[in-house]
Amino acid sequence: MTPMVFHSVVIPVYNEEGNVRELAERLVAVLERTEKSFEIVFIDDGSRDQTPTMLRALSARDPRIKMIRFARNYGQEAAVQAGILRASGRWIVQLDGDLQNPPEELDKLFDKRDQGYQIVYGVRTARRDPVHRVLASKLMMSLMRRVLDIELPEDVTTFRVIDGDTARLIAGLPEKKKFFSALAVWTGARSASVSVEHAPRVHGVTKYNLAKLFNHSFDLMVGFSTRPLRLIGGGGALVALFGVGFGLFRIAQKLLGADITMGYTSLFSAIAILGGLQLIALSVIGEYIGRIFIQTQGRPLYNIAEEVGFSRTTRDAGVEEAIAHRSGEEAAPDPHGG
Ligand code: UDP
Ligand code: MG
Repeated sequence: MTPMVFHSVVIPVYNEEGNVRELAERLVAVLERTEKSFEIVFIDDGSRDQTPTMLRALSARDPRIKMIRFARNYGQEAAVQAGILRASGRWIVQLDGDLQNPPEELDKLFDKRDQGYQIVYGVRTARRDPVHRVLASKLMMSLMRRVLDIELPEDVTTFRVIDGDTARLIAGLPEKKKFFSALAVWTGARSASVSVEHAPRVHGVTKYNLAKLFNHSFDLMVGFSTRPLRLIGGGGALVALFGVGFGLFRIAQKLLGADITMGYTSLFSAIAILGGLQLIALSVIGEYIGRIFIQTQGRPLYNIAEEVGFSRTTRDAGVEEAIAHRSGEEAAPDPHGG
C-alpha cells in the first residue's frame, strides 16, 4: 500500500523556469501551516528551459517535492492526469505553475472543503489575462453551456481541491480526450466554488492562443454532445421544406396566371429538396457514429458513492479500477464524510 499523504499538489509546468522555485517555496509555507502531510508533484511537460534542472534541485533539498518529466510536450491535460495518477493524497490540489494562482489563496479553498465538499473550485474575481484571452474563453464556455447543454460549472479555473478518489477515478477513465470539470459533474461529486485572486503572469508567456482554445472547445463539444449531429438533420429538414414550399408557391403563382419560367423553379426546388434530404441522411449516419463513439469512450455508466452491507470485494466490476486506488481509505479516514 502506498503511504497516503493528506494533500497532494499537482502542478503541470511547461517552460516555467522563472516561476517554479518561488512557487515551491510559497506552497511549502502554506501547506506546512495546515499541519497536514503533503507532497508536491510537478509534471514537467517537456520544457526546453531550466525547469527540470530546477525541479531536480528542489526535490533533492525537500523530498516532499517530486517531479515527473515527460519525454516531450504532451499538453496540460496529459500532465495533470499523470500527476493525479501518481499522487497518493487524500486530497488533490491542482494549480498552475505560473504563479497566477497564488498559493496563499489555498486557505480559502481548504476552508470551503472542510464544510463538506468533494470539489472546491477557485473562481477568479478579477482575471488578469489579456482581453482576447478572457473573451475567447467566455464565448466558448457560454456556447457549451447554452447551445450544447454541457453542464459546466460557471467560470471555473484549474485552481481547485478535489477529493483524491474522485480525481483518480476521472484520471483513470479510458477515454483519451478528457474534460476534467465536465467529468467532475458527471461523477456527481458535491462541488462548491470560492472567489480567489488571480495574479498576472510575471515570468514566461501563456501557452494558449485562440486557435488552441477553439480546438479545445471543439473537443469538448464532440466529447460531450451529439447534438450537432441532430442540428445538421434539423437544418436539412428546413432546407427540404423550403424547397417544397418554394415549388408549391411558384405553382400556385403560375395557376393564378403569373408569368413564370417553370424550368428554373423546378430545378431550384429539386436542388433544395435533395440537398435537405442529403443532410438528413448524413445526420442519421452521424447518429450511428455518435453512438459508436460514446460506446468506445468506455465511460462507466455510473459512479457509486456508497455501498452499505456489502463486503469490500463485491464492488461493481465497472468501477473496479477506480476502486483499486481507494485502497488507502482505511489508513486515512475521511474527516469530511466522503
Ligand atoms: N502547461 C503545460 N503544458 C502545456 C501548456 C501549459 O504543462 O502544453 C502548463 C503551464 O506551464 C501552466 C499551466 O499549464 O503551469 C497553465 O498554462 P498557461 O499559464 O500558459 O495558461 P493560461 O494561464 O494562459 O490559461
Ligand atoms: Mg497562466
